Amino acid sequence: MNQVSTQQLATWLDTTLQAQRFKDYCPNGLQVEGKASISHIITGVTATQALLEAAVAQNADAVLVHHGWFWKNENPCIVGPKRKRLALALQHNLNVFAYHLPLDAHPVLGNNAQLGRILGFEPDRDANGSPMVCGPDGLVWLGRCTPSKTLEEIGNNVCNALQRRPLIVGNPQQNIERIAWCTGGAQSMMDAAVAAGADAYLTGEASEPTFHLAQETGVAFIGAGHHATERYGVQALGSAIAQEFGIRVDFIDIDNPV
Ligand SMILES: [Zn+2]
Repeated sequence: MNQVSTQQLATWLDTTLQAQRFKDYCPNGLQVEGKASISHIITGVTATQALLEAAVAQNADAVLVHHGWFWKNENPCIVGPKRKRLALALQHNLNVFAYHLPLDAHPVLGNNAQLGRILGFEPDRDANGSPMVCGPDGLVWLGRCTPSKTLEEIGNNVCNALQRRPLIVGNPQQNIERIAWCTGGAQSMMDAAVAAGADAYLTGEASEPTFHLAQETGVAFIGAGHHATERYGVQALGSAIAQEFGIRVDFIDIDNPV
């Protein structure tokens, strides 16, 4: 069975995702050290108890997720559910890798790149072929629906592709040519999409003011689910790891309606 050392994988991931480039709300990289070598990785959106249990049941050596642990605004004490998760990882020598913003932003493997591909949005690109982005950390992608579609048609597309009915604010018959998107909880970045001239903005979650911003700017809003929009980056990253190191990588989707 092929294997890679934990340190080698950590270095490759940090380099590939340019982890140092981001000021994030959590540490990116190897968050909890386990076994010194890895031949089987379980990937998932969030390092929940259920994902760790699935990884342990499959005798995996590591989990790799988008939403890891040790967030800036949480209680840093190791109590309650956090203790349980950490105890399980330590007990089984499970490595826990997490990449948050670096995995959203990667131009090919990232959540935004992969969601655009799955929904059939064609990203605008600059002369070097890099995606045109806006908003904080360049996290909002801009692109086109070609051919242009009505808001209703895009909503149906999203529903089929993500297996989840999105929240939509706007006139269903409105024509959408320019679309902006950012996976996850990026409702506060809708301003950037409006300023960039988008006809619609798609992200995972909505807040109360999101509705008014959409109403008052005429820019349509599509809330397609935080989890549902962030399933794809970690899968693309997992495929890249399997290809690079010849090890086994399996994605486990533990659904989340939010
Ligand atoms: Zn997220």
